[in-house]
Amino acid sequence: MLEIIFLGTGSGIPTPDRNHAAIWLRYEGENILWDCGEGTQVQIMKARLSFMKLRRIFITHWHADHWAGLIGLIQTMNLERRKRNLYIYGPDAERFISDILDLGYWGPDFKIIPKNIPYEGNEITKIYGTKFFEIFSIPVKHSVPAVAYCFKERDKWNVDIKKAEKLYGLKQGPLVGKLKKEGKIVFKGKEIKLEDVAKLTKGVKVVYSGDTKPCKNLIKIAENADLLIHDTTFSEEIEDTLHTGAKEAAEIAKKANVKKLILTHFSRRYKDVKEIEKEAKEIFPNSKAAKDFMKIKL
Ligand SMILES: [Zn+2]
Repeated sequence: MLEIIFLGTGSGIPTPDRNHAAIWLRYEGENILWDCGEGTQVQIMKARLSFMKLRRIFITHWHADHWAGLIGLIQTMNLERRKRNLYIYGPDAERFISDILDLGYWGPDFKIIPKNIPYEGNEITKIYGTKFFEIFSIPVKHSVPAVAYCFKERDKWNVDIKKAEKLYGLKQGPLVGKLKKEGKIVFKGKEIKLEDVAKLTKGVKVVYSGDTKPCKNLIKIAENADLLIHDTTFSEEIEDTLHTGAKEAAEIAKKANVKKLILTHFSRRYKDVKEIEKEAKEIFPNSKAAKDFMKIKL
């Protein structure tokens, strides 16, 4: 099961109720952070998550409300005697991580490994993968190089052993593993195809826009996602060329055929974001405004 915890749902300036951008993903023992705005380490503690378990941080772009929490978080990890490598992904990550580590009289005793993410063009790039899931990115449109991220659980074949035994006499064992891996096997002179005895369960897909004005790449990467988390800095009455409005985010959710839309990255001008949520719901009913410490399970 994938668990998503919103650690910060504010935008450029935080409020007492909304911290800077950060989203925690927990899945099968892996802990991932999408963005790390200032104060994220305290949010992690308040949410009772373990920052020492973090292995990979993905930064959408290098505006301070999305990365300034890295300095404090890395220092705390170091004081807690972290030894494990920490991987930080982002557009031009090598340059920015090197700059950050050059500041002041500090530097961690563990390794920080930056990974550059492509930020030009229209291609979806696979940037990380395990046996259970993959992470992809795509460039989006902001005032600086910026990307969106996608978490995709791998699709799973579940073999119906009773059916396999009844139809072919095939019992649980190494041959079933081979069937799952190769898609077909020959057993007692007969060919068994995986789809004859198994059902495909589609893996969960979640996309996070980062900061962007409405863009086609986002629709491309969010296609059929279970959840789209989208920048919705302003309500529709504000003309903004760097961000997406509530209605625009809802249009994107609709075009991408996602199941659910969560709005985030709200301007401090909105104490209450119910109106923004309402605007989005008019176009895409399954919309919800995020708040700090909100949890979602998929
Ligand atoms: Zn921002």
